[in-house]
Amino acid sequence: MMRMMAVATFVLASGSVFAAPQVVKQDLQPGGFYVARVAPESTVTLGGDAVVVGPKGEVVIAFDRNAPRKQVLKVCSGSSCDETVLTLKPRTYKTQNVTKVPQGTVTPDPAQEKRVAEDNAATQAARDKAAAGARWRDGFVQEWRLPITAPTSGVFGSRRTYNGQERSWHKGHDLAAKTGTTIKAPADGIVRLARDTFMSGNLVMLDHGGAVTSVYAHMDRMDVKVGDEVKAGDVIGTVGTTGRSSGPHLHWGMYWKNVAIDPILWVHK
Ligand SMILES: [Zn+2]
Repeated sequence: MMRMMAVATFVLASGSVFAAPQVVKQDLQPGGFYVARVAPESTVTLGGDAVVVGPKGEVVIAFDRNAPRKQVLKVCSGSSCDETVLTLKPRTYKTQNVTKVPQGTVTPDPAQEKRVAEDNAATQAARDKAAAGARWRDGFVQEWRLPITAPTSGVFGSRRTYNGQERSWHKGHDLAAKTGTTIKAPADGIVRLARDTFMSGNLVMLDHGGAVTSVYAHMDRMDVKVGDEVKAGDVIGTVGTTGRSSGPHLHWGMYWKNVAIDPILWVHK
């Protein structure tokens, strides 16, 4: 469920400040998110952990695949505090068996392992930069659109086997389309990574602000480079089947800090 609300007026006639958060959009389930505005000088915690507040009072929170069912969001402004209990809907996951991927991507040799480690370090550095930079672009408050219009071939959270061997759960949403299909940015952002990786093939990462990033994997062609600014709808590359992939598709992933979340929940349906 998503809903849009007008930005609220925070300062009351008396000059006292209203601490309750105003929801911009939310989907309260594992892999989902909560976006709100609070008075800009507010202090915000989730389950006791500090949450960064943007210059216009933006707050973004997202939920891990195995997040607790209830989390308390506390917003304090001046002497006034407000507590909101965020209750997540339950979610179940299936197992998906993926076959005919290059065996080297299931059981990499030492040289490939080294390359994977380098790819992971570069990806982590890019994600850290997005989280630490605290660039409060408006990407995460926009209405999101699909990067390609295509049938779903894999969903967030499923346990995965590759060529019969169990590997980590699926951290994204797969859309099956022909090689060469153009991929468009679903929202405004800045390119943090554009790299030929061993597992994810050609991989692009966009930073949407608020520590929210999205990734596009197995691309045939990358049309952007690190530092490029993109607007929603700009072409960033094309669908392919590079890396650990059994056929042309787009693996679309999203993260809040280091938490993998479900990108499809961001698209207005
Ligand atoms: Zn995928």
